This record gives sequence, structure tokens and C-alpha cells, in this order.
Amino acid sequence: MKEFKVGIIGATGMVGQRFAALLAEHPWFKVTLLAASPRSKGKTYRDAVGGRWALTTPMPETLADMVCLDATADMEEIAKSVDFVFCAVDMPKAQIKELETAYAKLECPVVSNNSAHRNTADVPMIIPELNPQHSDVIPAQRQRLGTKRGFVAVKSNCSLQSYVPALFPLHDEFGVVDVLVCTYQAISGAGKTFDTWAEMNDNVIPFIGGEEEKSELEPLKIWGNVKNGEIVSANAPRFTAQCIRVPVSDGHLAAVFARFKKKPSKEQILECWKSFSAIPQEANLPSAPKQFLHYFEEDNMPQTKLQRDLEGGMAVSVGRLREDTQYDYKFICLSHNTLRGAAGGAVLMAELLAYQGYLEPVSVA
Ligand code: NAP
Repeated sequence: MKEFKVGIIGATGMVGQRFAALLAEHPWFKVTLLAASPRSKGKTYRDAVGGRWALTTPMPETLADMVCLDATADMEEIAKSVDFVFCAVDMPKAQIKELETAYAKLECPVVSNNSAHRNTADVPMIIPELNPQHSDVIPAQRQRLGTKRGFVAVKSNCSLQSYVPALFPLHDEFGVVDVLVCTYQAISGAGKTFDTWAEMNDNVIPFIGGEEEKSELEPLKIWGNVKNGEIVSANAPRFTAQCIRVPVSDGHLAAVFARFKKKPSKEQILECWKSFSAIPQEANLPSAPKQFLHYFEEDNMPQTKLQRDLEGGMAVSVGRLREDTQYDYKFICLSHNTLRGAAGGAVLMAELLAYQGYLEPVSVA
């Protein structure tokens, strides 16, 4: 694969820091530009992040002295200097939509972690193992935007990155009808640490604004079909969700209850999970986990702290599969919210888009 020059928009934030760390050694994507708000403009990455560095690994040396740009004021310069950008910013939704569209119209593709474009019908929302074919809408989006190269592609919400992958192969085989899910979500999902969110020490908060709606609706876009240049959401399975903030640093866990059209045996479910692999595994994409779904037999697994970093934080851990008295089955799922659920998932999506030919270095005609 050729080398791509990439920019990180929102580089100083929680997800932006993950991008910086993940891309420091990436074989295809080289970070040549960092941008954030006007507050960070003109500062070195080290100074702009200041005491906010939240990862246990140090800031990559190659980026520490890079001077940050302003994502809006310097947009034209950024768009012409890189092959595409990753974007994870904390701004009002309408402004994010405007910002991402503007980059795309300047012929700079945007691989986004933000929710602003998730409901735009010709913007693909891709989990690379599940719906890689949704990139088929990109030509229609380019036509709407009047671009040759520019487009926006988004990641789904971090809450659903554990339970949707586990349900996906089961739905294909046995038809999932109803799902009840309770998520137990880490504080990094709010861009916070225990130092910046003291209220979360020794506490549980039973509300995460907008999260339950996203957890119920976004899976239906993932299961949707591409028709006439748009993604038409599926109308099944039906989801109901409760999302709860718990005092852990990283890792979203989900308790799942599922009812099927054709009830499988426990062995059939386990076989589906074990044998599930897709383009990222088959094409050996650099960030793809070798085994996407790992099942743990022990009664007390998966645990957030023990399994969140499995396969570089890109695998999904599943456990405690058993029959239920009201639904057919119940089980537990876990994924790393800022890796698979955010920056890592976006990097894998960019690898997929490059593999499919939707991202090209600008120097290639
Ligand atoms: P965060 O830690 O609060 O970081 C916010 C970033 O946005 C900072 O880089 C900040 O730059 C930048 N920013 C703020 N105002 C801006 C402006 N006017 N122009 C340009 N940049 C601006 O937030 P986060 O947790 O990384 O989340 C970022 C996005 O990713 C959000 O849309 C969030 O919903 C999404 N997301 C987060 C997670 C997660 O697990 N954390 C998971 C999935 C998706 P300054 O430092 O200069 O202020």
C-alpha cells in the first residue's frame, strides 16, 4: 500500500490523542498535520495538550513539537496539504456538520468519529467487519457535494461496538427479533479522566445524554441496505437500551438479552462467533484483530480491566452465554471505547476505504 499524508482534526482531545498514538507507527498513514480549536493554534502539540494527555503511553516524540493549526481558520491550507483527515471534535453538531462538509468540498476526505453526519443518508457509517459494502454510497455523496475525491465517512457510536458485532452474525443465521441491552460505559467516553471528573469516583450515573437513542437507532443503519445512492435503515431487530456511566477509565461493557425468529442452540451461537471473519481479517488490514469475536468460558469474564486491550483494543470480548426465562438468550459483551469504539475503529475504516480504493494519495491521478 502507498503512504498517505494524514491530518488529525481535534488532535488534542481524548480521541485525538488516541489517533496520535495509533498512527505514530502506522505502516500506511503518516501524520503530517495536527489541528484543533483556535485555543491550540500556534502551540506545539505538547503545549496545546498540556496536562490533558490521558494515555498511559507517552506522547509520540515525532508529534510533540508539531505546531497545531486552527481547524476552521486554516482549513484551506490543511485540506491541500494532506490526503485525508481524521476528525474528532467537541463542537455543536451543526458546526461539526458544516466543518466536515467544508473539508469534503475542498476535496479532502473526512473519516469522522463525530455523530453529526450519522443520519445523513449518503454518508456511510461503517464497522469494517459488518457493513464494508456501505462505502458503495460514496459516489452518490460525491455527486451531491460536487467533488471528485472529497466525502465524509463516519463511525458509529462507541456504546454499540460491543453488542452489535456479537449480534450481527447471529441475525444473518437465525434472525434476531428483539434485543434489550444495558451498557456500562467508561468515563473516557465523555472525554474525561478521574482527575477531570471527580464526581465519578465511587459513583454511578444512570444517564448519558442522547446515548440510548443512538444505541437503539444506529444499529439499524448498520444493518441497512444501499438503494439509489442512499442507505435505507433496516426495521429489525428492535432495540431497547439503558446506558449507564460507571467508574472505569476505559471500556464499555454491555449486558444483552436477545430473542430470535429461529432459536439457535448454544453450540450454534458459539460456532457463529468463532467462525466470524470478514474483509479486514481476510485482507489482513494493519489494524484488524486476527479474531474479531473472542468467547470466554469463565463465569466471571469478560472483565473491563482484563479484556479491554485484547488484540490492541480492537477485538470484542463475549461471555456468559446462557438461556433466559423471558428472552431466548443473554450474554455479556465488551469493547474498548476509545480504540475499537473510536480512534482504532476509524483507523480500521480508513484502511478499508484505502483497500477499496476510495482513499488515494493526492499524488496519484
Ligand atoms: P474532547 O476530549 O473534549 O476533545 C475535543 C477536541 O475538540 C479537542 O481537540 C478540542 O481542541 C477540539 N475542539 C473544540 N472546539 C473546537 C473548535 N471550535 N474547532 C476545532 N476543534 C475544536 O472530546 P473527545 O472525547 O475526544 O470526543 C471528540 C468527538 O469524538 C466527539 O464528537 C465525541 O462524541 C466523539 N467520540 C468520542 C468517543 C470517546 O470514547 N471519547 C467515542 C466515540 C466518539 P482544543 O484542545 O483546542 O480545545
